[in-house]
Formats: sequence, C-alpha cells, structure tokens
Amino acid sequence: MSRFFSSALQGIEPYVPGEQPKDQQYIKLNTNESPYPPAPSVMEVIDREAVSALRLYSDPTAASLIQALAHTYDVSPSSVFVGNGSDEVLAFAFHAFGENGFTAPILSYGFYPVFASFFGIPYTAVPMTSALSIDMEALQAVTDGSIVIANPNAQTGLYIEPSEIEALARTAPGVLIVDEAYIDFGGESVIPLTQKYDNLLVVGTFSKSRNLAGARVGFAIGCPDLIADLNRLKFSFNPYNLNRLSLLAATAALGDPDYFRDCTARIVRTREKTKAALREMGFTVTDSRANFLLAKTPQMHGRDLYTALRRKGILVRYLGDPITEECIRITIGSEEEMDTFLAATKQILEEQRS
Ligand code: PMP
Repeated sequence: MSRFFSSALQGIEPYVPGEQPKDQQYIKLNTNESPYPPAPSVMEVIDREAVSALRLYSDPTAASLIQALAHTYDVSPSSVFVGNGSDEVLAFAFHAFGENGFTAPILSYGFYPVFASFFGIPYTAVPMTSALSIDMEALQAVTDGSIVIANPNAQTGLYIEPSEIEALARTAPGVLIVDEAYIDFGGESVIPLTQKYDNLLVVGTFSKSRNLAGARVGFAIGCPDLIADLNRLKFSFNPYNLNRLSLLAATAALGDPDYFRDCTARIVRTREKTKAALREMGFTVTDSRANFLLAKTPQMHGRDLYTALRRKGILVRYLGDPITEECIRITIGSEEEMDTFLAATKQILEEQRS
C-alpha cells in the first residue's frame, strides 16, 4: 500500500478469484466456466470486419444486445441493463441501492461483502439453515436496506422456488437483488416477477450457460426506474462498458437457443451422473441445480483432497471458509473430464485407505 492510498479504502479485502494457472494444462473444474465453446453463431460474427471496426467506440446504449435480451426474456428494452460481466452489474446495483445497507446469506457469492466495503455500505450476513439453505424467514424479517441472494445459491447450488422469492419481494424494505448466474441449469427464473414488483432486480450472466466467461457480459432486468438508476451510474463512470466484440458475441449467442439448450442439458445430465457417482463413493453432495457440486467425504479434509487432485492435473475449488472447509466445489465439465475426475478421486481415496 502506498502512502498516497485513500485512508477510506485501506480496509478493503479484495475478492480472490479462482486460480487460472499457466504452469501446466489442467482439467479446470474450479471457476464454473462452461466446458463447451461459444455457439457457432458467435464464431461467425467475430470476423475481420468486426475486428476492423474496433477503431470505433462501441455503442454506449448497447441497443442490439438489449433488444435481444428483451426479446429473449419477453420484457421491454427499458427493463434491461447490461454490464461488463455480472460483477460490474452487481457493483452498480450495490452502489445505487446500498444507502441503507445490504443483507445477504452468509454463504453466498464472496464478492457481495467486497462490493459493500468498496462502497462503504453496511453489510449484514444472515446465518444459513442447518441444511445449508438460505434462511428465507430471517430475510423476511429484515426491516431496513436492500437484500441480495443468489438463486441457485453460490457454493451450494441449492435452489429457492419463485413463490418464496415473491414472498420476500413483498416484504423487502428496499431493493431485492436475485442473482441468477446459475438459473439455466435447472431453475425457474423470477424475471416475470419484475413486471409486478418495482423493487425486484434480477441479475444474469453470459459466463456460465452461454459459454462466454471471457467476453465479460452480464445483465440486469427490473422495472424501468431501477434500470434508469443503473444507467445514471454507468454514464457517470464508463459509458462504453461493453466492448464491440463482446456485444457482438453475446447478441449472437442469444440467437442460437438450440445450442444453448443442448449445452445446458448436457451439463445437467453430467451433473446428475457425477452426483450419483460421488454419493456412491461415500461423499455428501448438495442437491445442486447449478453447474457445480459442493461435496465432502469423511475420509479426507477438503484442502487435502483439493491438493491431491491438483497433483493429478485436476483443478477444483477449495473455498476454505468456516462453513465449507471440509468440502471441495467441483464445476461440471464435459462427460470425459468428469470421468477422469471421478477415477482420480476414487484412486486418491483408495490410496488414503491403504
Ligand atoms: N454471481 C455469482 C453467484 C457468481 O458465482 C459469479 C461468478 N463467479 C458472478 C455473479 C459473476 O459472474 P460474471 O462477472 O462472470 O458475470
């Protein structure tokens, strides 16, 4: 830290992203990316002409992407905001709606408390239920400020039904952000409820189910007034927040719904197969509706299993917080990758026993 760094910012503990190591080729099951490439329509649209147009700024209104999202989710374009990954969208939303604080479940996306400290927002973490679910009753008792939940939840993949989210939208004293980064792997989106509740903001991403993590595209859907607030901040900070290639890629991805359905269905099938195989080996595994599983075995601490898998060229996530310290989080890769992961895990546990 330099002696010039603002004193108000010195207490920030930055978010630590999952490793992206360069030392060798790993089977990468640690940051919930898709094992499949972007849609063929994306490959076609990033051509010489698109690259040549990079001399020009991108469209600050992101009109074609917003139009495509409005069409996909059957809402008006004035209900849609786009950002540089959903991380940026969430940051704008924290900044815009955090005056009276934010409340979130204690086990969720690790970036939420970081955004709060970045913007000097009071942050309350609500304990989980004994089943590691979000305690919706505790959230319904919140009397001040905004609320953020991820559904399916980060780390566990556990899912909350739309009716419960609707009940929370009714009682929430401020904005209710529902982060649906993983919704396409088996949940029902609450985007339709944004037409009914002016305090509900649904955040989505192209990083997981649209196979575009590296393009950095996220979005929010909510009532036009909430979206106008986000745009006020965006146009006061970085009007060209999405670059030309990412705008093209994301718009093209929405134009290929069959490919999207095929990829997400394959991931769901592989997840269910992997879950069953892990349980067979004695693991406790969450009933995840996301593209990852949270798993633990009485035979080995999560950190040791993570290290042993890494030695075999397989990268999973060891979160290491007090609630999940015995667990590893495994992103669902391709069928072949998961077969390799399962075989390696079996071997590690057998070696441990002998
Ligand atoms: N929300 C949740 C729950 C996530 O797990 C992630 C990805 N780590 C994000 C948001 C951010 O995704 P992105 O910025 O790639 O859209």
